[in-house]
Amino acid sequence: MQTQRLRIAIQKKGRLSKECQDLFKRCGIKFNLMGERLVVHSENMPIDLLLVRDDDIPGLIMDGVVDLGVIGENELEEVGLERAALNEPCDYTKLRRLDFGGCRLSIAIDKDEQYTGPQDLHGKRIATTYPQLVKRYMDEQGVEFSPCMLNGSVEVAPRAGLADAICDLVSTGATLEANGLKEVEVILRSKAVLIQRTGEFSEDKQALIERILTRMQGVIQAKESKYIMLHAPTDRLDQITALLPGAEDPTVLPLAADKSRVAIHLVSSENLFWETMEQLKELGASSILVLPIEKMME
Ligand code: ATP
Ligand code: MG
Repeated sequence: MQTQRLRIAIQKKGRLSKECQDLFKRCGIKFNLMGERLVVHSENMPIDLLLVRDDDIPGLIMDGVVDLGVIGENELEEVGLERAALNEPCDYTKLRRLDFGGCRLSIAIDKDEQYTGPQDLHGKRIATTYPQLVKRYMDEQGVEFSPCMLNGSVEVAPRAGLADAICDLVSTGATLEANGLKEVEVILRSKAVLIQRTGEFSEDKQALIERILTRMQGVIQAKESKYIMLHAPTDRLDQITALLPGAEDPTVLPLAADKSRVAIHLVSSENLFWETMEQLKELGASSILVLPIEKMME
C-alpha cells in the first residue's frame, strides 16, 4: 500500500537513533517524537517517520513497505545476504553514507592465543550475530569454521566455553579488552547509510527525496566545515594561506586603519587545529576566529 506521504524508517531506540533524529531535524523536518508511537507524522512536510528495531529496517525497504531508511551497513549487508540465500527480495539503492554509526565488524580471539592469519581459524567455532558476513569472509579466505549464532553477549562466548572466537561490532575495543579478547581481523567497516526502496516513485515523492538529499548534503558538509577569519601581515599572505586547510579561494579584505595588514575570510573543509593556530600566530597572524557553520548550499 503506497501513501502520498514519504515513509522513512529509523531506529526507535539505540546507537543510531539520536543522530538520525538530529539529522532529519537539521534538514528542517519537524516532528514530535514524544510518546511510544510507531508512526510519527511530520508537522511541516508530507513525511512519516516509522520508529522500529534496526533489524527490521532492511526488510521494510527490500519489501518496498517504506520509501527510505537509515541503517548500519553491517545490518543492511547481513540481511541482504540472508534474503538472497532465501530467494527473497533483497534490492535497494544506497543514497548516501552518513557521518555517524561508525564501527567495524571484527574477529577476536583469546588475547593469549597466537595468531598469524585467517588460516589459524580453521575448524574453530565462531560466535556472532552476523553469520552471513562471517561466512562470506571465511569463504573468501577459503577457511572452514563452525558458526554459533548469538543475538547478545557475544563477547562472553569464549569464556563461557560456547565458542573459540567471536565476530562482533567494535568501536573502541574496550569491550573486547574487558573480556580478555584481542581483535585479529576486521571483516567490515560500517557506517550508517540512507537507503531507498527500488521501484517507481510519484513525481512529488521523487522531488521531496531530492530536496532532502540536498539538505542533508548541506548539513553534513556544514558539520565538517568551519568559517575562519584572521588578520595577517600583507607580506606574509602566501605563507599564511598555505597553512589554512582548503583555502583555495580566500576572501582578502583591507583593514580600515592598518595598511600593512589584511583580513582573510574563508570556509575551510576541516577544523583548524591548535597547532596550526599557533603556527599562524608565529607568522604574525592575529584575531584568529574559528566559527561553526550551520547550513551550506552551493
Ligand atoms: P535494536 O533494538 O534497534 O535492534 P540493536 O541493539 O540491534 O538495536 P544498537 O546497539 O543500537 O543495535 O546498534 C545499532 C547500530 O549502531 C549497529 O548495527 C551499528 O551499525 C552501529 N554501531 C556503532 N557503533 C557501535 C558499537 N560500538 N557497537 C555496536 N553497534 C555500533
Ligand atoms: Mg537490532
